[in-house]
Amino acid sequence: MEKYIIKTEQIDAWLKRIIESVPRVLAPVSSGTKTEFRRIKSPEEVNNKSLTTTVSAKAAAFPPVETLFKYQKDGKDTTLTEDSFDKYPETVLWHARSCDAMGFSPLSAIFDWDYKDNIYDERRNKLTIVTFACNQSDECCFCTSVGGGPGNVEGSDIQLTMLNATDTLVEVMTEKGQKLVALLPDIFQPLSEEVDKEAVLAKIPVQFTKEEIKEHVSNAFDSPVWKRQSARCLGCGACAFVCPTCACFDIQEDAHGNHGRRLRCWDACGFSLFTQHTSGYNPRPTQATRWRQRILHKFSYMPERLGVYGCTGCGRCSRACPVDMNLQEHLISIANSNHE
Ligand code: SF4
Ligand code: SF4
Repeated sequence: MEKYIIKTEQIDAWLKRIIESVPRVLAPVSSGTKTEFRRIKSPEEVNNKSLTTTVSAKAAAFPPVETLFKYQKDGKDTTLTEDSFDKYPETVLWHARSCDAMGFSPLSAIFDWDYKDNIYDERRNKLTIVTFACNQSDECCFCTSVGGGPGNVEGSDIQLTMLNATDTLVEVMTEKGQKLVALLPDIFQPLSEEVDKEAVLAKIPVQFTKEEIKEHVSNAFDSPVWKRQSARCLGCGACAFVCPTCACFDIQEDAHGNHGRRLRCWDACGFSLFTQHTSGYNPRPTQATRWRQRILHKFSYMPERLGVYGCTGCGRCSRACPVDMNLQEHLISIANSNHE
């Protein structure tokens, strides 16, 4: 890892150079009460004060709707056309958070599990992630309880930490990160003495460990806890749509006579139709069984099958839930309970 100091006032000049040099730069942009990752054309568009965006950064590699291929029928013949990977632009994800960067590890584990998803991989490989360490948090954040932290560098190519009003620490983890530094090298001064990065980070208490949650939920398939916790869940799917690690999708046909497109669209295991068979039978017929699936998938099935947990503690699901389901509270309750 390379470490530098830059003057905080020079960050915008560097970002301007990045925007001039890279085909697509995504950054938090505010509109009304919402802040989302949007393509930016100038540093002034960035909301540097946002804690997290409403929706995670996963769309940079896994868009809400994307064309897998197009088809054209001609008599008995059908011609398939796939998009050229050249269409996916090199992208810098600017001012993401540690919990955003961490989210790409479980996403990649899912998309490259038994079948390598070239479309996802191509988009992910063209992504350079610049995170800003968090010096603030809110009541929904619990990254430290699931192995992350406000200054965790996992998944980041570069991380910036504001040390004081004038100086910013720059940690460069990868070759992709070095390429961004090389765009305006004169502003980066090698770090001459160690700095106490932890001292300026948000303080987020550890409430449980992900291993504790795994142990508890792995033995709680028939526990009444799922019914109790999901009693007010509407099954709206907002928690899955905003989540950096949720990867459920549906395949849809956009057909127009003899031609059309096959689409991959975000879906959610909280939807009642998600698992319904064409026969009408639904193996997860209640919201309690769907809530159980959400938690077990993230904290039991994923670590068992993929070696990664499906939650980065970003708190987006809790902020987005229309009925105030707070995941951190539910996980604390699970960690402290005996669900036999
Ligand atoms: S489950 Fe909730 S807290 Fe965990 S990563 Fe997804 S949105 Fe963030
Ligand atoms: S956002 Fe809340 S109400 Fe909607 S599905 Fe998720 S937990 Fe249920």
